[in-house]
Amino acid sequence: MPLWMRNFQSLLNIFLKSNCPLCERPTSQEVCQNCTQKLQRSCLPNPGVRWNQPLPVFAWGSYGGTLKLAIATMKYKNHPEIARPLGQYLGNAWLSSSTARNTKCIVVPIPLHSEKQKKRGFNQAALIAQSFCETTGLQLKVNGLERVQETEAQYGLTVSERQKNLAKAFRIGQDFRHILKTPVLLIDDIYTTGATAKSATQTLHQSGIRVLGIVATATTFNPNNPSYNSR
Ligand SMILES: [Zn+2]
Repeated sequence: MPLWMRNFQSLLNIFLKSNCPLCERPTSQEVCQNCTQKLQRSCLPNPGVRWNQPLPVFAWGSYGGTLKLAIATMKYKNHPEIARPLGQYLGNAWLSSSTARNTKCIVVPIPLHSEKQKKRGFNQAALIAQSFCETTGLQLKVNGLERVQETEAQYGLTVSERQKNLAKAFRIGQDFRHILKTPVLLIDDIYTTGATAKSATQTLHQSGIRVLGIVATATTFNPNNPSYNSR
């Protein structure tokens, strides 16, 4: 949604209270105060704990509870507006982390296959990226990558099978059909095995574009529960 339209929507919401998409309570915001508090409790104590090679990961929250509900509601119940607060949380966490300081980069969302995006009506990663960039002031290139292969059946595959499945999933998008010296920061809604991020990184590397790392709203990795991470 263009910025003017979203501003207009926010203005409209002040006059027309709608219901919170997560709990149905009336609210003038995208998500009500109560759910906002619950969402903010999903924040990991140190989102940058895995900011190390080969692919640095910065993940804001633990994938579960209200955060899981918010992401599912956004994607599957047609509530793209939820991307705005999620992008803000991620952006604020990024700004206050030592990782981000003085880091110049271009933000690129993990794209959806065009058929899937047409069906959903939006790419949640692109909307989160837009809000993330409004918060951080970083440059956004929505079409830095294109998804050329539908990779629907990822469930039930092992990590190596997933990587193989994703090996040719992406190609350089129209925004990057020239030499790019600034590194890219990838962004996605959920980070799980990292197979998607690795595939996107490989595509960018093949074109001589450096990837700084990936930022994600949620991760299944939980430093307080190591047994959960091996799933
Ligand atoms: Zn609510």
